Amino acid sequence: MSLSAQLKTVAHSNLNSSAHLTRLWKIAFAIYALLLTVGTHWPSLKLGSEESPWPDKLMHMLAFGGLAFLFIQTRWIKKLYLCGIIAFAWTLFDEFSQSLPILGRESSWGDALSGVMGVTIIMALTWALGPIGGFANRLRLAQQQFIIHQLLKQKKNLIILIASAIGGAVIIAIPIGLSWVLSVKTLLNDSELMVGTIVAGVVGAVAGIYVALTGMISRCAAIENLKASCFVCDASCKDVQFDDNGKGKCPKCEAAVYRGQWAEPMQLPISAMLKGAGLAVGVAAALIAAIVIGIIGFTFLHGKFELARQITHAWNSWSDDFIITIDLTAIALIVAIALRIYRSRQARFYDRQDKFCRACDHDLQGTPIDRGIGRCPECGVTFARFVDKKE
Ligand SMILES: [Zn+2]
Ligand SMILES: [Zn+2]
Repeated sequence: MSLSAQLKTVAHSNLNSSAHLTRLWKIAFAIYALLLTVGTHWPSLKLGSEESPWPDKLMHMLAFGGLAFLFIQTRWIKKLYLCGIIAFAWTLFDEFSQSLPILGRESSWGDALSGVMGVTIIMALTWALGPIGGFANRLRLAQQQFIIHQLLKQKKNLIILIASAIGGAVIIAIPIGLSWVLSVKTLLNDSELMVGTIVAGVVGAVAGIYVALTGMISRCAAIENLKASCFVCDASCKDVQFDDNGKGKCPKCEAAVYRGQWAEPMQLPISAMLKGAGLAVGVAAALIAAIVIGIIGFTFLHGKFELARQITHAWNSWSDDFIITIDLTAIALIVAIALRIYRSRQARFYDRQDKFCRACDHDLQGTPIDRGIGRCPECGVTFARFVDKKE
């Protein structure tokens, strides 16, 4: 397998071990899409009452964001931008097909835009967490994915993860949710509390999954046995002969395997992580500052231009939950950009690991490398070199 083919495999994580998971995602997507389409087209369905209106825009955002998320996981479409185009088209079609007179429902641009914003958030976060960096870093990502897929093959682990997600969501969201349900007098209004509850729930669920997964990985004794497995087909590559570059061939599927693909530790040193985090936080702060300056600048224009007045007027006429939907989208986009910067910074450290030690920055050029693996003479950290000549 050539370098480009191997990179493609890593990039699309088209691993056999994930086939089982993908099937589960497909089932989840089919059920969700059906329920959503029925729900949005149910004749004359009205949710909420006059006094406590249903946060319609927010629900559109969550509903279509969820649809886009599940659609990406099915892996029917591998290219992210194509997934995006299909999800946007689906969202608009779903909304405007509701205006069929027979259904007695209304469609609105506000609803459609809220759905589109939900899809945008999912696309941005998927991009931010997607494959990144050069060959060494993509092998590192493939290693992580491989371990996670192996763990999730066991039903017990899957159940633990789901329970941790629910547990995390409940722990963080319950205090906010309670003050909303009990109508405790607070500084925030109902829809702000509702958003707070949902966002806290999502953050809690992600945190729960993260904690459970890291624990699982560090406790999993089986990982030692998985070492020297082929990332593409799971076959053991213990007896593979590696060439001078540390490259060999999987005995089962003939994909390229590297002596170094299991050699590196999972985490970067703290200093490297802090450097990446500093840059990411800086860019996020600059973006937020730009938005604030933009808003202040706009208020100056307000009295001078008719267009500015009209925009302000429109903004003031929008419902609370539509404005919150716009805010959440802006926050998610900034988070996605910061995350991508952080990960690309990390990737650079991995990709240059055979030139500069990623732990102590020692210059490694000239350090002996035995079949793809070397050791930093300064601090003793192992590093890998991946050479791939076209076959
Ligand atoms: Zn294989
Ligand atoms: Zn070193």
